[in-house]
Amino acid sequence: MDCFTHPLAAIGICKHCGRGLCHDCVAAVELSLACKGRCETHVAALNELTQRAKTAHEKAAGAYTKTAIFMALAGLLFTGFGAIEGSRAGFIPLSLGILFLLCSGFYFHSAKRYWSRD
Ligand SMILES: [Zn+2]
Ligand SMILES: [Zn+2]
Repeated sequence: MDCFTHPLAAIGICKHCGRGLCHDCVAAVELSLACKGRCETHVAALNELTQRAKTAHEKAAGAYTKTAIFMALAGLLFTGFGAIEGSRAGFIPLSLGILFLLCSGFYFHSAKRYWSRD
């Protein structure tokens, strides 16, 4: 592939417009390449967008994990309490505990999906 503007071999491709770039035309925007003076701002915006999406993604995964841990603790607490109380008085806390544990499993599952999507 040759440079889009010069009869020279391209050393990279612009992340925004996909044109071939030679030494004179290339500009580095963080870890990406852009047309010098043409696409630099576009590529910077693109990079920022990707970064922001990744951060939001990690935040969601973190929130799911925290909720899952909280649910698991509450579940254990309720089931433990229900078990101590016995079959009659302990029926409601035991049911709640199992419900919490089920929810926790669901949240753990979602969190795992979020973490592994990278
Ligand atoms: Zn470009
Ligand atoms: Zn060039």
